[in-house]
Amino acid sequence: MSHQKIFDVAVIGAGVFGAWTAWHLAKRGKRVALMEAYGPAHSRASSGGETRIIRMGYGADELYTRWSQQSLEQWKKFFRASKAPLFHETGVLWLGGEDDSQLRRTAATLKRCKVRYEEFDRAALEAKYPQVSFEDIKAGILEPHSGVLMARRAVAMLVEDALRLGVEYCSAQILKPAGSGRLEQVVTSQGERFSTEQFVFACGAWLGKVFPEVLGERIFPTRQEVFFFGIPGGDTRFAAPALPTWLFQEDLFYGMPDLESRGLKIAYDGHGERVDPDTQSRIVTPAMRERARTYVERRFPALKEAPIVETRVCQYENTSSGDFLIDRHPGMENVWFVGGGSGHGFKHGPAVGEYVTGRILDRLEPEPRFSLASKARTQNRAVF
Ligand SMILES: Cc1cc2nc3c(=O)[nH]c(=O)nc-3n(C[C@H](O)[C@H](O)[C@H](O)COP(=O)(O)OP(=O)(O)OC[C@H]3O[C@@H](n4cnc5c(N)ncnc54)[C@H](O)[C@@H]3O)c2cc1C
Repeated sequence: MSHQKIFDVAVIGAGVFGAWTAWHLAKRGKRVALMEAYGPAHSRASSGGETRIIRMGYGADELYTRWSQQSLEQWKKFFRASKAPLFHETGVLWLGGEDDSQLRRTAATLKRCKVRYEEFDRAALEAKYPQVSFEDIKAGILEPHSGVLMARRAVAMLVEDALRLGVEYCSAQILKPAGSGRLEQVVTSQGERFSTEQFVFACGAWLGKVFPEVLGERIFPTRQEVFFFGIPGGDTRFAAPALPTWLFQEDLFYGMPDLESRGLKIAYDGHGERVDPDTQSRIVTPAMRERARTYVERRFPALKEAPIVETRVCQYENTSSGDFLIDRHPGMENVWFVGGGSGHGFKHGPAVGEYVTGRILDRLEPEPRFSLASKARTQNRAVF
């Protein structure tokens, strides 16, 4: 590989953020190289899961609510054009406990942003979803038009579409760039050199490894385990539309109905231990397995004996607050960081790609919450 300035932008990382960034840049007529070490949405990438929730609710946080709205439109448009049914409109049900203030804030924001939702008290929830135990739950809000993206396949399809738009895909691991001022070139692990005008590092949990001095202490990759419980034969109560996707933030658990016959998905949203995305074990721990099983037994009594039919171990790539990191490198003027999805980034891929494209091509006004300056070295999660 010895491309000398024939590209305008190199995007490094073909997860959801890099893929959408490359796609938007190509739509705007830019010559883009998409460089990826392991493959689009591979098993170790945060975008490599089968499914990711797309919901509009973010408490009082209007920024992410609006980005979710814009992103869902773009995802749906892309899937329609590709004739790929990779969005399941399962509905997303927010559950609130005794202190339901977050639920109230979510409802107020949804109303302001004109997102359709329905409200339920406990008795209404029990009547509508008799297969669920609503112990400790006071009320719920259903976003009927939100749901689940088939994540890994959506990214793979997006990369294919980007290639049709002229993006060149390069299988390459980029080494830590050196120098200051303008970055002239990057070097791959195979010793090849690559020059271009702008470099976008959309490296997910690897950002801290590629830029240890600037980001080593600002990106916190944490271990996250996901479980799929097998549904009793012929029982349709755990598939959509009977069961929506749901989140109960007080317990930090969330789950999805049985989609494409993979079983009921359940995961704990609390941050696990700090991990290295290259080497962490992808085998679930007995402790988290028991925790997931206990939770399933409590919320879905009919699944008490359900076997675990599949598991996944992934990592969140958290920033201190949970806000994305989309900013220039402080010492390299043509180098961009794009990441910090923090366990909620997948849905926003289209809006992220559009924003990065705007920042690079149109000098779009930066959003302060995405700045490097706002990212601390200790975690204090504020976005849920
Ligand atoms: C268990 C789990 C559940 C989640 N649930 C949701 C959800 O329900 N809804 C939601 O919206 N979000 C969710 N998320 C978050 C979401 O998946 C991530 O925020 C998003 O996928 C991040 O995408 P990314 O492109 O930044 O990173 P990644 O997908 O990790 O992609 C980064 C890519 O960069 C490549 N790379 C890194 N370094 C180099 C290098 N030096 N050279 C070349 N390539 C390199 C990597 O190989 C990788 O492919 C969840 C995450 C996890 C782990």
